[in-house]
Amino acid sequence: MTDSARDKVNPSAGSLPSNFIRNMIARDLATSKHGGRVHTRFPPEPNGYLHIGHAKSICLNFGVAAENDGSCNLRFDDTNPAKESQEFVDAIKENITWLGFHWSGPVRFSSSYFDQLYDFARQLIERDKAFVCSLSAEQAREYRGTLTEPGRDSPDRGRATADNLALFARMKAGEFADGSYSLRAKIDMASPNINMRDPVLYRIRHLSHHQTGDTWCIYPTYDYTHCISDAIENITHSLCTLEFEDHRPLYDWILANLDKEALTAASDLGASTDPYVLPEQTEFAKLKLNYTVMGKRKLKDMVDNRVVTGWDDPRMPTLAGLRRRGFTPTAIRNFCESVGVSRSDSVVDMGMLEHAIREDLDRTAPRVMCVLNPLRVELRDFDEGHEEVLQMAKHPKDEAMGRRSVPLGREVFIDRADFAENPPPGFKRLVPGGEVRLRGAYVIRCEEVLKDADGTIQGLICSVDLATLGKRPEGRKVKGVVHWVSAAHGIPVKVRLYDRLFNVENPEAKDVDYLECLNPDSLLQLDGAIVEPSALAQGAATSFQFEREGYFCLDSADSSASIPVFNRTITLRDSWSA
Ligand code: ATP
Ligand code: MG
Repeated sequence: MTDSARDKVNPSAGSLPSNFIRNMIARDLATSKHGGRVHTRFPPEPNGYLHIGHAKSICLNFGVAAENDGSCNLRFDDTNPAKESQEFVDAIKENITWLGFHWSGPVRFSSSYFDQLYDFARQLIERDKAFVCSLSAEQAREYRGTLTEPGRDSPDRGRATADNLALFARMKAGEFADGSYSLRAKIDMASPNINMRDPVLYRIRHLSHHQTGDTWCIYPTYDYTHCISDAIENITHSLCTLEFEDHRPLYDWILANLDKEALTAASDLGASTDPYVLPEQTEFAKLKLNYTVMGKRKLKDMVDNRVVTGWDDPRMPTLAGLRRRGFTPTAIRNFCESVGVSRSDSVVDMGMLEHAIREDLDRTAPRVMCVLNPLRVELRDFDEGHEEVLQMAKHPKDEAMGRRSVPLGREVFIDRADFAENPPPGFKRLVPGGEVRLRGAYVIRCEEVLKDADGTIQGLICSVDLATLGKRPEGRKVKGVVHWVSAAHGIPVKVRLYDRLFNVENPEAKDVDYLECLNPDSLLQLDGAIVEPSALAQGAATSFQFEREGYFCLDSADSSASIPVFNRTITLRDSWSA
C-alpha cells in the first residue's frame, strides 16, 4: 500500500502504535477482503455494569472502526434472560456514550434475531446438522467425555429429520419442561475440542425476557447466536477475548453449515454483498488490573452485599464508578491505548490507570485551595473585617484558563498537618516563631499557639509581613508554602478520600477470599473541610486540583447545595509503588 492509500483508509494510522489487530485490518483492506469494509461490534451481555476491562474492548472495537472509516455496532448479547435486565441495558448505553463513542445505526439486540435464529436452526436440522436431544444435563455431561477421553453419541443422534423438526417446534410451543430437551449440533463427539462435541444450540427456559417478554421459552446459546448475529449485521471483524479461542471452530462451523444465500438474504446488506465474506473471529487478551476484581459476579456480590454503596461506588472498577470518582473519558481512552492489544495475558499495574488520570487532570483541572483538616489562624496585622481579593491563576501552565478571585480576611484556615509544635527534622512548614508563605499571598510568622484546657491546639496567632505580597521577604529565606482558605469566605464541604479497594495485588487469586483483602482505608470521610469559593462559583468546573492535596471532583450523587461533597479522584503522587 502506498502512503497516500494508507492515509485514505486509515487517516490516523501514522500516529497510532501498531498492534496485531490494526495490522490484520490494514492487510484485509489492502487485499479488499470484505469488499474493503471494516465493521466491528461491541457485544455486552446486559447482566451487569461495564468495567474498565470492557473499556478496552470498547476502545478497540469502536477505535479500529473509526480509524478506518468503518462502523461499529452496539449489540446486546441477550440470550440469558435469567441474569439480564433493562437497568443494565440503559447503564451500558450511557457508559459508551460517555466514553465518547457512537454506535452505528440503532442499538441491536441478539434477541431481535430470535425468529431468524430459529429458522436457521430448522435449516441445520433439515441439513442433518442438528438434532433434538433428550439427555438430562447430568447425562449430557457424562456423555461429553473428558479432555483425554472422547465422548459418546447421544442415543437421540440418529433421530429422523421430520421427528427433530416436530420436537423442536413443540419445544418452542412450550410443551416441555425446562431441561427435558435441547437442540444440539451434530458435529463430532470424538473431537479433541470439547466445544465441538455436539454442543447445545437451544435450551428450554420458561422465563420472561427483558426485550421479548413471554414470546419465547427456548433460548439460543451464546455460541450459536453470536456468529449468526455477526453475519446478519455484516460484521467483518468479530473481536473477542482469548477464552473464546477454542470456540472459534464452532463459530466457523455454524456459519459454514448454513445456506450462504439464506445468510446473505438475512443480512443487513442483503444480497448486495458480492462476494459475501463471512465474519471472522479474532481473539485478544483481556485487560487484567491488579488491586481490583473485575469478574461481574464478584462485582455484583459486592453491590448486593453492601460492601460498596452500588455499581457506581467511586471505588468500583466500573465505568460508572470511575466516572463518579472523577475519571475522564480521555484518561480511560489514553489508558486503553497505552495498555495496547496483544494475544498474551498479562496483568496491568493499577498505577498505569492512575497515571493516566493524573496526566489528564494535571492538564485540564483548575487549581483551587481546600483545607481538609482546618486549623484557625488569626492574622493579627489585619483589622477586624479586613477583606482583600487576590487574583490567582486557575492553572500554572495554562494562561488561557484565566484567573480566579481568592478572598482573604483576618482569619484563615490552614491544614493542621502544616503546623507542628515539635517539628520532625526537615519540617519546612509552620512552627512556633517560624515563617511560612500563604500560597499566592503573604509571609506570616507564628507568634502564639492557642490551646484549650486539654492542651489541644485551637488556633494560631500570626503576624503578617505586609511587604511580601508577590515579593520575596527581605533579608531571609522562607521555604515553606502552605495552602489556606479565608475563614469568612470559605465554604464548608464534605470530602471523601478514596483509595484502592483492595490491599493485595491479586484479590482474585484462587487461594484468596477477595473479601478478606479489602483495604480498610479505601474511604475516609472528612466532614469539616473548607474550600475556597471559586470551586463552587456559578459555572465552575466540577474537577479540580486541590493544591497540595490531589485531584477532586464534585460528587454527582450525594452533593447538595447546602453540603457539597467532593471525591478524591487521585492523589498527586503514587503512594503505592515500592
Ligand atoms: P465478565 O467476565 O466480567 O462477566 P464478560 O466477558 O462475560 O465479562 P460481556 O458483557 O460478555 O462480559 O463482555 C462484552 C465484551 O467485552 C466481550 O467481547 C468481552 O470479551 C469483552 N471483555 C470483557 N471483559 C474484558 C476485559 N477484561 N478486557 C477486555 N475485554 C473484555
Ligand atoms: Mg461474555
